[in-house]
Amino acid sequence: MKRGNLFILSGPAGVGKGTLRKILFREVDGLAYSVSCTTREMRPGETEGRDYHYISRGEFDEMADRGEFLEWAEVHHDCYGTRKSEVERALGEGRDIVLEIDVKGCRRIKDIMSGAIRIFIMPPSLDDLEDRLEERGTETPEQINVRLRNAAVEMRQAAEYDHVIVNDDVECASRELVEIIKSYGRAWRRCK
Ligand code: 5GP
Repeated sequence: MKRGNLFILSGPAGVGKGTLRKILFREVDGLAYSVSCTTREMRPGETEGRDYHYISRGEFDEMADRGEFLEWAEVHHDCYGTRKSEVERALGEGRDIVLEIDVKGCRRIKDIMSGAIRIFIMPPSLDDLEDRLEERGTETPEQINVRLRNAAVEMRQAAEYDHVIVNDDVECASRELVEIIKSYGRAWRRCK
């Protein structure tokens, strides 16, 4: 059986990756999503096992020591990791899988899985991103500043990606994302 495609979605906090991903999963059948492990606290509206697996730093370190992560990285002072088993299961079953991870994690995956397809979601500007983070209201002003500083660094890495989508209009950006995923074939056949 042909193995599935691995798609990596990256982009700064607040750029709308989550919203675009939800639309993508509504529009395209048969995609798997890799639910990462994180040491950060659950935000209001999030669900264990759907958004993340929320674990302690001790548990995270033990999993890392046991080699259970395909990649992991510290982002905004918390740890995030992609479970090997989850990715391997989907790809082995011939399913396409989507990872929503940061730029560092993306590089690590690309080193070991050269066929990974990288998609960067870009805000129209840093000012726009700041507005979105303030509107989202899930971070303190200090946390917003950390995210904005990281965003500037991440946006400079966008050129490494296979595709860059500017999210200035959710409808256009999601259509672009769906078209990119469809262009790689497998999921397209099951597109609604
Ligand atoms: P948030 O806390 O806002 O959900 O995510 C913060 C950042 O961590 C985002 O850039 C997100 O893409 C990234 N992230 C989430 N899961 C993983 C993961 O498993 N590995 C890596 N390297 N980054 C992740």
